[in-house]
Amino acid sequence: MVGILGYPVDHSLSPPMHNAAFQALGLDWVYVPFPVRPEALESAVHGLVACGVRGFNVTVPHKVAVMKHLDEIDNTARIIGAVNTVVINSDGRTRGYNTDADGFIRSLYEESVNVKGTAVLIIGAGGAARAIACGMLREGAREIVIGNRTQEKARNLAEHLKKSYSQVDIKWVPLTNVPALIPHCDIIVNATSLGMKGQPPLEIDLSSAKPDAVICDIVYSPIHTEFLSRAREKGLKIITGDGMLLHQGTKAFELWTGHDAPVDVMRRALNDLLNSGS
Ligand code: NAP
Repeated sequence: MVGILGYPVDHSLSPPMHNAAFQALGLDWVYVPFPVRPEALESAVHGLVACGVRGFNVTVPHKVAVMKHLDEIDNTARIIGAVNTVVINSDGRTRGYNTDADGFIRSLYEESVNVKGTAVLIIGAGGAARAIACGMLREGAREIVIGNRTQEKARNLAEHLKKSYSQVDIKWVPLTNVPALIPHCDIIVNATSLGMKGQPPLEIDLSSAKPDAVICDIVYSPIHTEFLSRAREKGLKIITGDGMLLHQGTKAFELWTGHDAPVDVMRRALNDLLNSGS
């Protein structure tokens, strides 16, 4: 058994995605949502270990708080400063990972986007931006600029990343200065919540982008945000947010089971959910 700890967790897309994968591979596993209040987090983690559960995902509001209840933290998760996947070994030891970075990188590689040596602009400085920046740095990006509305958060993130990647050019700018950077960047990522259903779109003019620039949006509801639609109208290559969502799951599946994830099965289950508006 595996599951997801969050509060609330009713709208998580992970249970049907993983359960479809277990079924497709004939594995006698099940993925269960566990609504856990913040004050019950520690006992929930110990309870799952005691029950012999093989691992779990962690979502809002526990991604940072769970770290102090785990035995080991993987290096990428340590740099990101948050855990979204926990593996419980047969001896009951827990190890925390963050598969959002791998999820984003896999979504790029699946579309043949090369990261090594690129200049990357990440718009946003929240949890997802942190994971994406770590993934891009690990894959050899030459330069990273963080653009964010709250300048202090952009500065803090850039300073934090420089501690682990001192040889890379890492800068930050206020959101208002982002348009001036567009002509210079190879990969541009919207890692804000702008463009989500019920939120205004991300209004950044992409007219001056390089013709071979890659424009990514990690918002997955809707899959085709206004930001991406405008990029596509200009003939730019786009990467949608459902790929990151899928692949943070394929990576977690592999960590838990040791099997290659049935990517197409999981993609189909996820697309069915996203298209049904879940
Ligand atoms: P978060 O930690 O709350 O960060 C939100 C970010 O959006 C911050 O940088 C925030 O800027 C910015 N923002 C929000 N409203 C804004 C506005 N009106 N104008 C300008 N900037 C604004 O959230 P998160 O966890 O990083 O998630 C961000 C988005 O990514 C969400 O839509 C989430 O659903 C999506 N996501 C997708 C995946 C995936 O697998 N595809 C994974 C994780 C997250 P300030 O710092 O100025 O507030």
